[in-house]
Amino acid sequence: MEGNRRNFLKSLAGLSSLAVAAVPGLSSASAKNAQIQDIRLSKNKSYVRLVFDMDKLADHSIFSLHKPERVVLDIKNASMPHGMVDQVQANSLIRSIRSGVRNGHDLRVVFDLSNNVTPRSFILAPSGKSGHRLVLDLHDKKLTTKAKTSNKRDVIIAIDAGHGGKDPGATGRAGTHEKRVTLQIAKRLEKTINQQRGMQAILVRKNDRYMRLRDRIQKAREHHADMMISLHADSFPDPRARGSSIYALSVDGASSETARMMAEKENAADLLFGDVNLAVEDQMVKEVLFDLSLTGTIESSLDIGSEILTQIKTVNRVHKKKVQQAGFAVLKAPNIPSILIETAFISNPREEKNLRSASHQQKVAKAITRGVNKYFSRKAPPGTWLAESQLEYRINENDNLASIASRHKVSESDLRTRNALYADNLIAGQVIKIPVG
Ligand SMILES: [Zn+2]
Repeated sequence: MEGNRRNFLKSLAGLSSLAVAAVPGLSSASAKNAQIQDIRLSKNKSYVRLVFDMDKLADHSIFSLHKPERVVLDIKNASMPHGMVDQVQANSLIRSIRSGVRNGHDLRVVFDLSNNVTPRSFILAPSGKSGHRLVLDLHDKKLTTKAKTSNKRDVIIAIDAGHGGKDPGATGRAGTHEKRVTLQIAKRLEKTINQQRGMQAILVRKNDRYMRLRDRIQKAREHHADMMISLHADSFPDPRARGSSIYALSVDGASSETARMMAEKENAADLLFGDVNLAVEDQMVKEVLFDLSLTGTIESSLDIGSEILTQIKTVNRVHKKKVQQAGFAVLKAPNIPSILIETAFISNPREEKNLRSASHQQKVAKAITRGVNKYFSRKAPPGTWLAESQLEYRINENDNLASIASRHKVSESDLRTRNALYADNLIAGQVIKIPVG
């Protein structure tokens, strides 16, 4: 449908530009100006998109007028073949389009509309067969409001603070209990994740209580978690051992047949771990790792794990440079990609101090959140706001985050979240996603 309309407009536009080229006076007068070469219209669920193909970049601005509803597009030092706007067919939103010359060299295009809209505009740099494009989206406010209440859900992240209640976990030399610092970091992580648009954190354990592993997993499942992060603190007899580690599972090293046989036995966990030298003392860690082995989402877990590890490296030394994998087979798939983070060694006096420090806890929470963002900016599950509410935009040389944000009427932090952008330098040609709706 879009194709037909596009061809239709193209053929008409072709005629118009031929006509212009045939008049020498006109073409030389417009030599310095940006020339609109084509206007294409496409309809989407809640907005109408107009693409102006141009032979070069030009500054533009947009504003709305109400009663009657209009959107005005001004393009500096630009011109358009006479009659080009007439080719854009009226539709249920756009009643008519008018154009005129302003200040002798600027172009003004006025859209008469049947509904109140939110206009958004942006420039696309040449790519492939396309040249410079000015894109104007007219978001129908009535429909956009409806779309917002539609069921684009948040990505759900279950945060599992290790240990609790009668199970204190490891204890540091200064008497710090693992269960306490994991809960504190979990709560900070909950906050930083909830600050990210399109994400929602669920605390598996909210207070100092004992929870069996299967109840923890059950809780994550009840909330339809897209990811589960278990937080722990490492412990080792030698107080010099230090750094963070992240665990995920791999299928390497164990045949599914062996794993299936073992899982059928009640003490499967012990048997399995008897086979694998993980060098973990923590019984709960062993159990979590065993449960991870039952999920069919190892690749995702590794992917998430390495994104988070990259971010953790900026706030703490890492004990192992890679996401640690233990060799289990995939048995069944509850499908929650899960990782386990040993945030630091509670048995190392300096790291124990860090684990108790509010500012360090906050750094760790933020680093994990950045990693989570990085992952979901690539792999947002279908049906989530993160996956479905976006436009793509190619960065130009003079762009910065603030200008892109203001042009698209989105917040800078939403742009950062959606694209997991943490450095300030944008690269020309880089394509970012603009959240919509
Ligand atoms: Zn632990």
